[in-house]
Amino acid sequence: MSNIPYAEVIGDPIAHSKSPLIHGFWLEALGLAGDYRRAHVTLDALAAFVAERRNDPDWRGCNVTIPHKLAVMDLVDDPGNVRGTIGAMNTLVRQKDGTLIGTNTDAAGFYAPLAGLDLEGAPVAVVGAGGAARAVLFALARAKVGHVTILNRSPLKAMGLLATFGLRGEVVALDAQLPPAALLVNSSSLGMSGHPPLDLDLSPLPDEAIVYDLVYSPLRTGLLQTAEARGLDTVDGLDMLIGQAALAFELFFGSAPPEGRDEELRALLMA
Ligand code: NAP
Repeated sequence: MSNIPYAEVIGDPIAHSKSPLIHGFWLEALGLAGDYRRAHVTLDALAAFVAERRNDPDWRGCNVTIPHKLAVMDLVDDPGNVRGTIGAMNTLVRQKDGTLIGTNTDAAGFYAPLAGLDLEGAPVAVVGAGGAARAVLFALARAKVGHVTILNRSPLKAMGLLATFGLRGEVVALDAQLPPAALLVNSSSLGMSGHPPLDLDLSPLPDEAIVYDLVYSPLRTGLLQTAEARGLDTVDGLDMLIGQAALAFELFFGSAPPEGRDEELRALLMA
């Protein structure tokens, strides 16, 4: 046991995770006694890991990444009905009595950079239908967007998500022509290092469209470079990464991250 409060990020693989850098930066900036670690946890070991941490009074909780965002829902309490809404958890928080509460900070982290916009009724296009897409579509449904076009390799999965989130729209192939969407979001792994590129013709998008790529490795993805070349506004994956981490940090350590330090943190994450 560490005797200082700590949280961690669990996944398989986990070496690539930038969460320790983010939480470590905030802990140091605030001068808080605390630690944030990375834990490599395979699916087979997940239940035993959670059971052990539940009994550790120094453990404040963890962030959850691929492939555990669905499996953890069976291991924790769910007072916010995350299972019945977003359908994936990315944060577990230990209460003082050992109760574990699961939540999801991805949806709010995704939406934070868009918060000043009025998306009500706006047509949007979303690439992907995995765990990240669930958070994106949940947030877009709350924003009451209009017609939603999902581009995905597996059409049935994407159709299920439209129904789950009560969205009006359609599912098309990855190589279909884009609609004239006000917002295009890539929530797939395409464009991420080690994955195939995402090749989209952005010409159907209006000049005021926003292109948002959740992929943050690399940060300036091919999609964002193409959008910038067209003069479109862009949002990169670090905004969401920092946004979802900020909400989790407060749940773990009881303090909001320091204000006015985002540029410094972004520079650290890009180094
Ligand atoms: P996931 O659940 O594994 O879903 C992956 C998605 O990408 C699925 O829609 C999948 O299509 C598609 N895909 C993967 N490989 C493909 C290929 N070769 N060809 C066509 N489609 C392919 O992963 P996730 O958790 O949603 O994460 C997706 C991306 O979002 C990752 O790059 C992740 O790093 C990023 N992300 C970023 C943040 C952030 O804070 N910025 C947060 C969460 C996730 P099928 O449905 O057909 O399998």
